[in-house]
Amino acid sequence: MLDLANAKRVVVVGGGTAGWFAALEMRHAFGPQVEVTLIESEQIGIIGAGEGSIPNFNLALQRYGIDRERFMAATQSTVKLGVRFDGWRTGAADDRYHHLFSTVRGDTSLLDWAEQGFYPLSSWLMSEGLPLERYPAVQALVERGASQQEVLAWLDMHPREAYAYHFDARALARFLRGEAEARGVKRIEGRVKQVVMDAGRVTALESDAGRLEADFWVDASGLARVIAGKALGVPWESFAQNLLLDAALPFMLPHRDAHPPLLTMSHAMKSGWMWVIPTQGRLGCGYVYSTAHIDEAGVLAELRAHWGCEIEPVNRLRFGAGRLARCLESNVLAVGLAAGFVEPLEATSIAHTLYQLSFFGNLVQDTHHVVAESSIAQFNREVSNAWDGILDFLLMHYDTVRSDTAFWRDAAAAAQTPRYRDLKRAFATRTPRLADLVPYQMGGTIMFGIPSWETVGFAMGAIPRDAAARQLRGLSAGAQLRLHAAAESLRAA
Ligand SMILES: Cc1cc2nc3c(=O)[nH]c(=O)nc-3n(C[C@H](O)[C@H](O)[C@H](O)COP(=O)(O)OP(=O)(O)OC[C@H]3O[C@@H](n4cnc5c(N)ncnc54)[C@H](O)[C@@H]3O)c2cc1C
Repeated sequence: MLDLANAKRVVVVGGGTAGWFAALEMRHAFGPQVEVTLIESEQIGIIGAGEGSIPNFNLALQRYGIDRERFMAATQSTVKLGVRFDGWRTGAADDRYHHLFSTVRGDTSLLDWAEQGFYPLSSWLMSEGLPLERYPAVQALVERGASQQEVLAWLDMHPREAYAYHFDARALARFLRGEAEARGVKRIEGRVKQVVMDAGRVTALESDAGRLEADFWVDASGLARVIAGKALGVPWESFAQNLLLDAALPFMLPHRDAHPPLLTMSHAMKSGWMWVIPTQGRLGCGYVYSTAHIDEAGVLAELRAHWGCEIEPVNRLRFGAGRLARCLESNVLAVGLAAGFVEPLEATSIAHTLYQLSFFGNLVQDTHHVVAESSIAQFNREVSNAWDGILDFLLMHYDTVRSDTAFWRDAAAAAQTPRYRDLKRAFATRTPRLADLVPYQMGGTIMFGIPSWETVGFAMGAIPRDAAARQLRGLSAGAQLRLHAAAESLRAA
């Protein structure tokens, strides 16, 4: 049992995006009677990557009472409407699809009309071989490169739209620090040197700023995993046999278009892929690669050829895909990179952190700060399930026919989880259903819903046209008429 009824102090280790969001959640969950302190080391610094989000970022802004305009100004944010995938199937110049967050056109979402567990409008698009980006109204904004002002005004007039942000990661950590300190969170500059334990519980930390005692700890120490990984020894479950990427070379470029693009670009490269993330002042880019397939000199040569200029890396990052077996262990919660990471594709890391934090905060509040062992086990299971969902969703992106380099052949041949293989067999006969995704839910939320699975699954060939067409044939005569009318306007668009 985790008894925090008389807790006086919570300490967060780490001042990256995860640490500061965790501090905000601890303040939110425990209320003013509990002191929240964050210790971080400027000497170690933060990873400084992580500049794309998904729509649950807006839920976090609301939850912690953060004003959108102030956040956007302070973090050089731009609006993100989805992701553009270039070259993930054939690698040809016209090989492109969009994974948009929005499912809305006019007043109607693709999800408003459901029949027998599927969505006739998206099934119709797939049955005609048309990409799902054809439906949402935001696609027109993307195509004509609308300005940020125009898009923000448009989003304000369309409250059902889902959108997210691109931002400067270092500015985000600074901004969140200001927000947390304004809510009474104390910050200590110092490097944690030793974790003091008593009967399996963490009781204190020794740091070069002195000794810190607390009732509850958050390990947001990034890839160092100072408490959960090193002191508690929670086992690490690797996804390296499934996902091959293990390094990234980030760099910056000036903007090239009149307005910042509204999508993150995920450009398939010879031995991985490249992200291009537009913030207000620059393009933040990075080649994520497999060290088994290319070295840094090869990466730089390929980037030079792609951009037609010299590329100056701003960092060199190494990582391993996987997650902790349990992120809530004893009196410690691990979040952010300390809890797990897959790779940057689809911007899942901050999103998972935010879902996990609110799940934990709700659990603490709902249990009056006394959490039973069975709830802890369930919490850990669901957090792991959400990682499994991310893993399976990403596997679908790599389930490709592209085979022009060793990397793409190896990525497609890499181990697929039995869960993903089973879903793919189901998708061969019918489109994804909510029941397929429920096993991935965490705290009642599912990170990528049916439209996301349909968009990527159809684009990559995991969902064949036939599967979508077959289920349409089972519609009633009335539904067929309704579909016919809607199809006319979709065909014309
Ligand atoms: C290449 C790459 C691209 C990514 N792109 C995205 C993306 O587009 N979208 C997304 O959502 N996520 C992305 N991520 C993940 C994202 O970077 C992280 O989720 C996010 O930055 C949070 O990191 P963090 O706070 O867990 O760790 P960090 O930023 O590394 O912070 C760790 C903190 O712990 C402190 N610390 C460590 N050891 C000690 C110690 N001994 N004593 C005191 N303090 C200590 C450090 O000083 C630092 O403050 C990406 C990651 C990588 C590697």
